[in-house]
Amino acid sequence: MPHQMSFVLPPAPVVSLPVMGLDARFPVHRVYCVGRNYEEHAKEMGFTGREPPFFFMKPADAVVPIESGVEGESPYPPLTQNLHHEIELVVAIGRGGSGIKAADALAHVYGYAVGLDMTRRDLQNDMKKQGRPWCIGKAFDASAPTGPITLADQVADIGAAAINLEVNGHTRQSSHVSRLIWSVAETIEHLSAAWTLQAGDLIFTGTPEGVGAVVAGDVLHGHVDGLQDLRVRIV
Ligand code: MN
Repeated sequence: MPHQMSFVLPPAPVVSLPVMGLDARFPVHRVYCVGRNYEEHAKEMGFTGREPPFFFMKPADAVVPIESGVEGESPYPPLTQNLHHEIELVVAIGRGGSGIKAADALAHVYGYAVGLDMTRRDLQNDMKKQGRPWCIGKAFDASAPTGPITLADQVADIGAAAINLEVNGHTRQSSHVSRLIWSVAETIEHLSAAWTLQAGDLIFTGTPEGVGAVVAGDVLHGHVDGLQDLRVRIV
C-alpha cells in the first residue's frame, strides 16, 4: 500500500473543462489574461498604439465550465453596477515551458475555447485611477465562463477566425482573431518570458471592441469560428 498523503482539510476540487470528442477533461492550472490586445478595444478604453502586451490573472476556480450545447448559468457578482462582457479566444496550454519562441509556440497549444472575461468595470476603473491592482475588477468568483476545448489540430486556422458575441440575440462584439495586436504565438512568447507555462494553463487573449454592460437575465452567446459556441445566462 503506497503512503497516502493526508490533508487537514479536503483539497479544493480540480476545475476542468470538457474536451470535444473525448470523455476526459482538461484540468485548469492557471488563468492568464492579456490586456488591450485589439486596437479598437484599446481605443474605446482610451489608449492608442501598440504597447508591449501586459497580463493579469484570474484564479483557476473563477472558471465556470460550460458544457457543449448547454446554456450555462453564471451569477451576477456583488459590489458592481457595471458588469461588462469581454468575449475572448481562450488558448489551452498542453505542454509547458519558459522562454518559448513564437516560432515554436503553437506546438505548446493543446486546444482552443470560447471564453468570457467578465469585468466589474466600475471597480476596475476605480483601481486604475488609484494605480491599484485590478483583482477586484477582474479576478472575482465566476468571472471566467468558458466553453469546451477543441483540439488544436481540429481547428483549421484559428488566426483567421471570426469572433463575436450576441447579448439577447443582438450583436455586441464582432471582429476577427487576425486583428489581435499580439498573435497567439507572440503572446505565448511574451508570457513564457515572465512565467513558466504549465500544462493546464489557460490564456484569455483579449477582447475586441464593443464591450458593454449586462444584467441578470441576459443571455450571452459567444462564437469563434471552428470552436464550440458558448451560451451563458447571467443569474
Ligand atoms: Mn479581457
